[in-house]
Amino acid sequence: MSMPTIREVRAYTVRGGGADYHDQGEDHWIDGQIATPMGKYPEYRPHRRNFGLNVLGTLVVEVEATDGTVGFGVTTAGELGAWIVENHLARFIEGTRASDVEKLWDQMFNATLFYGRKGIVLNVISGVDLAMWDLLGKLRDEPVHQLLGGPVRDELSFYATGARPDLARDMGFLGGKMPLVHGPAEGDDGMERNLAHLAKMREAVGSDFWLMWDCWMSLDVSYATRLAQRAREFDLKWIEEALPPDDYWGYAELRRNVPTGMWVNTGEHEATRWGFRMLLEMECCDVIQPDVGWCGGITELLKISALADAHGRYVIPHGSSVYSYHFVVTRHNSPFSEFLMMAPKADRVVPMFSPLLLDEPVPENGRMSVSQLDRPGFGVRLNPDCELARPFTH
Ligand SMILES: [Mg+2]
Repeated sequence: MSMPTIREVRAYTVRGGGADYHDQGEDHWIDGQIATPMGKYPEYRPHRRNFGLNVLGTLVVEVEATDGTVGFGVTTAGELGAWIVENHLARFIEGTRASDVEKLWDQMFNATLFYGRKGIVLNVISGVDLAMWDLLGKLRDEPVHQLLGGPVRDELSFYATGARPDLARDMGFLGGKMPLVHGPAEGDDGMERNLAHLAKMREAVGSDFWLMWDCWMSLDVSYATRLAQRAREFDLKWIEEALPPDDYWGYAELRRNVPTGMWVNTGEHEATRWGFRMLLEMECCDVIQPDVGWCGGITELLKISALADAHGRYVIPHGSSVYSYHFVVTRHNSPFSEFLMMAPKADRVVPMFSPLLLDEPVPENGRMSVSQLDRPGFGVRLNPDCELARPFTH
């Protein structure tokens, strides 16, 4: 069978939402006070933009095949990522067969080992990998979920991440995950305020709705343990990313410390099969939460999820909209999905990567039929109204 090769790869940047969902205006809940590892410095506490959470911006990678078909992927990497694609990775991408995703991934990963392994380089490799899967789907006229083995269920069900779990319940979601607001530097007073807020939300949503806390790497084992033990009274379903991602030992200890039945979840800032092997073998968590735009793309997520399956663990990908949905519907150990509430007040459902993508499906009443994903590739288009910049060429 003839398969086109890649004629050209192009790397663009774009500002304001998109894959860099932290790149938002000042009045957005995602930039309000949220506990962070920088919270120990009072001047960096009020907004995450203060310490540069939005510096990167979105990277868009386009791969154009010799027959003119174009696939694209998006991730958080901005100009730095564009430089890596154009100046380093292009040599592996161009000329490769559009179906050779495994070989391309291996070349990109091994060629960047001396400065890569995790972080922005893996974001960039993920972006290229998503573009390749999008292209392959378009060339074969199939949705990516079909390329991955086909759906194992007819619909996806969602929990909502945002500041208003009470509104998420009314919108039909399974549960609501709130950002933790106060970190250890705010002492006992902050701890009490966190718990008072959880109590208020439990009261508002009733007893049969999941409530979770996302701690965005901000705590230590002692604080997280006390918080989890006291949160048992309010039936907290899981405590997420309580510790810095490198503290595997702390996660293992925290998991032993939390009340029976409460989950310890993490992994959105982890990358590759080797990073997740650490989390799984050290028994750091109950659920792993790789971000397909950061962990190495679809090609690597398949390996990560097989490893999790063998350990009896769920894979619930972090955010990432259609790029996650096409994977989630094909895995038995991925029974529900995250939906990030990107409306500034978390009071309505808007597409997660808005305004960058067109045709991006959103849940209705907390659910989405798999038929909404039945378009070639990832089934989304770049919004021509979003101005793309190409800072480097090769
Ligand atoms: Mg999180």
